Parts: sequence; C-alpha cells; structure tokens
Amino acid sequence: MSNTDFSLAIEDLTVSFDGFKAIDQVNLYIDRNELRVIIGPNGAGKTTLLDLICGKTRAAAGSIKFKNIELTKMAEFKRVRLGIGRKFQTPSIYENLTVFQNLEVSFPKGRSVLGALAFVCDEEVQQRVHTVASDVLLGDRLQLQAGLLSHGQKQWLEIGMLLMQEPELLLLDEPIAGMSAKERDQTAELLKRICNNRSVIVIEHDMDFVKRIASKVTVMHQGKILAEGPMSKIQSDPRVIEVYLGH
Ligand code: ADP
Ligand code: MG
Repeated sequence: MSNTDFSLAIEDLTVSFDGFKAIDQVNLYIDRNELRVIIGPNGAGKTTLLDLICGKTRAAAGSIKFKNIELTKMAEFKRVRLGIGRKFQTPSIYENLTVFQNLEVSFPKGRSVLGALAFVCDEEVQQRVHTVASDVLLGDRLQLQAGLLSHGQKQWLEIGMLLMQEPELLLLDEPIAGMSAKERDQTAELLKRICNNRSVIVIEHDMDFVKRIASKVTVMHQGKILAEGPMSKIQSDPRVIEVYLGH
C-alpha cells in the first residue's frame, strides 16, 4: 500500500516542550473510513498528537499527510477546510442557543458576511441539520436550549456541530468522559454510524467502551507508539499490560 491510499500518514513526528519529547518519532497510518482508538496512560502524548494533527501545536520535525497533502506548516483553519474536525475534552457549544441553532451556525459558510446571511435559511442547511441531529440522537431535541441538555447530550451536540462540516477525519478526545452507562452505549452505536464515510480517531480510557468500538487500537507510552493491533492482541501484550492495562 502506498502512502497515497491512507487518509492520514504520520511519519517521524516529533514535538518537544522545553526539551521534553511529548511526541517522539511517531509513525501512524489511518485508512479511509477507519475507526482507530488510541489508548495509553496519562501523559503518554495522546492529546498532543491530536493537537499536532489539527494544527493547535506545531511539529518540531516529521510529516503529517492528510489525503496526501502535507499539513505540518498549514494553518489550523486551512486544515478544517481540508476536512479535519477536532473535538476537545470539554464541549464548546452555545448554551443559550437551541440545538437547531447550534447545528445551523456550524454549517460551513461562504467567505463573505453576505454569503453567510444568504445561507442561513437555506433548504440544504435545514436538511443537513435534521440529518445530523438524528445521527447524534438529538432529532427530538431540536428546539431545546442547548444549556438544558444532559452532559452526554452536549457531547453529542458538539460532535454534531463537527459533522455539519462533513469532515473526512474526525478527532475525538475522550468523548464519553462523564457520561452515564446508557449514554456510553448510545455513543458506541453513534460512533459506528458516523465512521461509515469518514476516518475517526478516538482517544479513550474506558476499556469496555474501547472493546465495543475498536477494530484496531494504538497504544501510546512516553510519546511513542508502544503497540498496535486488534484489541485481542493488545489485551494480551505484556508491555501494554505492564504500562497500562495492569493498573
Ligand atoms: P495524554 O493526552 O496522553 O494524557 P498529553 O498529550 O496531554 O498526554 O501530554 C503529554 C505530555 O506533554 C505531558 O507530560 C504534558 O504535561 C506535556 N504537555 C502537553 N502539552 C504541553 C504544553 N503545551 N506545554 C508543555 N507541556 C505540555
Ligand atoms: Mg489527553
């Protein structure tokens, strides 16, 4: 397989903070339509890796290619335009707007202010809002003020806001943190549904959840990839048990 077949190809990626290598010569390849889970102990570099992919942090060395386009020197907003969507650990939604409005304002706008206004009530936007809302289990909550949603529903709404942009690569950092057991189950189904036509990278700690969604798991430790493979193989890997699963 050549690098052009991957959605994301990361090679020799390195970044240091005051001489400490938070990411140390990482290689990572994500297929189109793949759902990849990244696990590892606190401080392993998982969040930093997503920061590097979305452009929040700049790489010191190495390469990040998305759809075979080099990203390392590209501005964050351009990476969004190319199709990368990033969800952070705490949801950032507009609490005073309704669910519908939160999704509506997330529709990618034309370049000019006038263009943006002309778009607002467009049929296409309405259609997309309804599709996305049902994808993230909020189809019957469209007129509710977002601040009144449960914590889990706020997380789904933020995923929905990213889906409005139809990203080809979605980056989710601990999406089920703070969710109820039922919401976790629902999120597992939601993720399987939304990775049908895009690649998704999920960082997660909850191993029951990881088992439910993962086909391939990458284990990070001290800024490096410690192991990679199907969950069954990862679970019985003595190095993974030592640094992570055994704790
Ligand atoms: P994880 O998400 O796996 O828990 P992080 O990527 O958040 O780990 O952090 C990896 C390491 O890099 C940690 O030791 C953290 O303290 C350090 N780190 C992350 N971001 C910064 C930053 N902006 N400045 C300095 N150190 C950082
Ligand atoms: Mg983290």
